[in-house]
Amino acid sequence: MWNLAGSNMEFGKIFGKKPATWVKRPKYTTSVEQINEIGEAERQSLRVVEDTFQFRTNDYYTSLIDWEDPDDPIRQISIPSIRELEMNMDWSLDASCEEDYTRGGGIQHKYSNTVLLLVNNVCGTYCRFCFRKRLFMNDNDEVARNISEGLAYIAENSKITNVLLTGGDPLILSTPKLEEIIRRLREIKHVKIIRIGSKMPAFNPFRILNDPSLPEMLSKYSLATKKIYLMAHFNHPKELTEHSIEAMTVLQRHGVITTNQTPILRGINDSPNTLYELFEKLSYMGVPPYYVFQCRPTQGNEMFSLPLEEAYGIFEKAQSMASGLGKRARFVMSHQTGKIEVIGLTEEQIFMRYHRSPDNANRDGIMVFNRNSQAYWLDDYEEAEKIISSRYMMNPA
Ligand code: SF4
Repeated sequence: MWNLAGSNMEFGKIFGKKPATWVKRPKYTTSVEQINEIGEAERQSLRVVEDTFQFRTNDYYTSLIDWEDPDDPIRQISIPSIRELEMNMDWSLDASCEEDYTRGGGIQHKYSNTVLLLVNNVCGTYCRFCFRKRLFMNDNDEVARNISEGLAYIAENSKITNVLLTGGDPLILSTPKLEEIIRRLREIKHVKIIRIGSKMPAFNPFRILNDPSLPEMLSKYSLATKKIYLMAHFNHPKELTEHSIEAMTVLQRHGVITTNQTPILRGINDSPNTLYELFEKLSYMGVPPYYVFQCRPTQGNEMFSLPLEEAYGIFEKAQSMASGLGKRARFVMSHQTGKIEVIGLTEEQIFMRYHRSPDNANRDGIMVFNRNSQAYWLDDYEEAEKIISSRYMMNPA
C-alpha cells in the first residue's frame, strides 16, 4: 500500500504532484500476466511480444503509470506493445555494429581513450526501445563473464583514461560486486574517469536509497582528480519523482558527478515542451543533459523512431526555450563510424560533424548532406559535399 508523504511546497511547485512514498523494496516481474491493470485480452495478445523481446519491470515503476491513459509515457517505456512486432527487417538488432568493436571480456573499444565495460545483461526494467535488446534475448559473448579479462585489457592499454560501466545496468550488481570492479579500475593508474551508465535512479531509486553502502563506496573512489560520473537515463519528466530526485541528491552528496542522456522517442518525449521540461528539471537537480540521441534503427524500435530531421527540430525547439545548463546537450547519432553530432540545417541541407570517431580521417570536418525528411540514420543520406575541414577554415594557410 502507498503511504503518502507530507507536503513539500518546493517540490510541488517545481515538479508537480508529490508522489507517494515507497516503503518497501520494489518487486520485479518478468511476465505481463502479472500486471493486473492490463486487461486479460491484451495480456494474451502481448504474449507473442514477450516471446520475442524480453520483458521485465517492477511495481515502483509501474506505479507511475496512469492506466487510464493509453499513451502514458511510462507505459510506453516499459509495457510491451504489439506494434513492436511491426519490424523493419532492414534494421538490425545491432544498429551501431557494437559487436565489431567488442574485444572480449565485456570490452567495447571504439575510441582510443574510452572503453565500455559491459558488466551484465540485466536492467531494472527493459526499455521497450532498448538498442541493446539483443543482449537480453540470446546467449552472447558481448557481456563480461569474467571481469578479470576486461580489466586486464584496460590495464594493458595505457591510452584508456575513461571507462564506462554499462550493460545491462551496473547498479543491478550488488554493492560488493560493483566495488570489486571499481576498486580494481582505480588500481590502474591511467584510468581517470569511471562512468556508470544507469537507469536505476528512474526504474528503482530505492537501489540507491535503501543501500547506504552504495553511495559510501562510490564516495571512496570518486577522487578529486579522478571522478565517478553517473550517467542517468531519464527519458520523461514523469520519471523525476521525489524518490528519483532524492537518489540523485544522495549520489551528488557523495561526490558523484551526475548527467543525463536520452534518445528522442515517438510517443514518449517527442514534443519540444516535454523535452524542454525534462532539460530544465534535470538542470535544477544538478543533472544537466549531456547527450540527446537519435533513436537507433534497431529491430523492434520502429514505433519509437522519428526521422532524424524531425527529431532534430524537436531538440532545437526544446533547447531554444531552455536556460544555459538545460541546453548543454548535443544531439548525436551513435553510428558505426563514430558519434555524429547534428549541428544545423537549412531549407535544403543538413550539417553534421563527428563528435568522436575511431578514424582520424573523420575528425575536424563538417559533413553537408541534402535534406531527406525520411532519413532515420546517416546511411539514409547521400553526401552532397566533401567534408570541409574546420581546421582548414581556421588556418587557411
Ligand atoms: S536501461 Fe539502457 S540497456 Fe537497459 S533496457 Fe533501457 S536502454 Fe536498454
